[in-house]
Amino acid sequence: MGKVLIIGAGGVGTVVAHKIASLTTVFTDIMLASRTKSKCDAIADKIGGGRIKTAQVDADNVPELVKLLKSFKPDLVVNVALPYQDLHIMDACLEAGVNYLDTANYEPPEEAHFEYSWQWAYHDRFEKAGLTAILGCGFDPGVTSIYTAYAAKHHFDEMHFLDIVDCNAGDHGKAFATNFNPEINIREVTQKGKYYENGQWVITEPHQIHKPLNYPGIGPKESYVIYHEELESLVKNFPTIKRARFWMTFGQEYLTHLRVIQNIGMARIDPVLYEGKEIIPIQFLKAVLPNPGDLGENYTGWTSIGCRIKGIYNGNERSYYIWNNCSHEAAYKETGTQAVSYTTGVPAAIGAMMFMKALWKRPGVWNVEQFDPDPFMDELNRLGLPWNEKFDIDLEL
Ligand code: NDP
Repeated sequence: MGKVLIIGAGGVGTVVAHKIASLTTVFTDIMLASRTKSKCDAIADKIGGGRIKTAQVDADNVPELVKLLKSFKPDLVVNVALPYQDLHIMDACLEAGVNYLDTANYEPPEEAHFEYSWQWAYHDRFEKAGLTAILGCGFDPGVTSIYTAYAAKHHFDEMHFLDIVDCNAGDHGKAFATNFNPEINIREVTQKGKYYENGQWVITEPHQIHKPLNYPGIGPKESYVIYHEELESLVKNFPTIKRARFWMTFGQEYLTHLRVIQNIGMARIDPVLYEGKEIIPIQFLKAVLPNPGDLGENYTGWTSIGCRIKGIYNGNERSYYIWNNCSHEAAYKETGTQAVSYTTGVPAAIGAMMFMKALWKRPGVWNVEQFDPDPFMDELNRLGLPWNEKFDIDLEL
């Protein structure tokens, strides 16, 4: 049992708050804090029961964060604000003696580039302070990393080829919208492609490699190799992997909008002068795009995310596919958000539970695949993200 502070009141924060509030035997006190307190209040009111306290905080302001941490005294911070805040929140956790969990690795605001090195550099400080930091506990990274750890533990002697496949076959009825924070999402999907092969990173043009893949219950969807952060930690933590790639589905309409947004300069992350004031085009764009947290109401269809793995077991070649399908409508019914927020928020809540139950508690900074996957996998089935697995099938890859 323990106290938790959730930072960030967007789509993901909404789901984390719902799930954590429902786990009454694990979390005694819950606070939801974000830049805009009214958003926290609205979430807390909707959940009801007086379970959730709220607060205003600028998570880029370390002294302000430390003050909040020292007054509320949580055991754990669940950071579901933006990746820009990761290091500030980790600094505040160290100063106030609080454990840490997030769903996305640090990204500097002025450069569309993400990697774990900045957060891994905190390992010794967290270890010395006797504090646990759990990195990347959403769906991807998060569940995909735990699926890989589970496969390594139970089904392979050596994993050789890992393909993470992420399909959103949902329809939100809008001409263009992103499923999580538009700024972070557009920065991620417009980057060059990158995958790992034989000890090296191979760089491609954006969306250069693509092919249709079949998703269970959905059918074929054009899938594109993009770079995704869990590849970095997975090839390090499972060194028998020879090739690791991440595939994401995009519709033609989405890609056309994306191309236009880039061509007209609206994806720029450098400041431009507008009527005597500096603005960052992608941040302005975020202000006019649909709020991902509000897409749920008319969202139909499913997401399907999983890992397709080939390797050796008991001297024989083996292929393995493990995945979850999540319904946008069911996610909305339960939490008022769509499946992308749901599939991120539920694992973050489970990770918080793993920490509170001392199942995932080890001083230092860790990626989720470095903990025992089994208790987490059990909770996925209980808390709304059941998984399926198939052996020795054609993985199409
Ligand atoms: P939203 O943009 O909907 O929500 C972000 C929240 O963080 C908002 O409430 C925002 O406040 C708050 N915030 C931003 N800056 C600050 C700050 N300086 N201080 C305090 N609060 C701040 O994003 P999502 O909910 O869609 O995503 C949340 C996180 O989840 C992101 O980091 C994203 O990358 C990650 N994610 C991870 C996935 C995974 O599978 N691992 C998948 C999807 C998302 P305000 O309302 O005032 O803007």
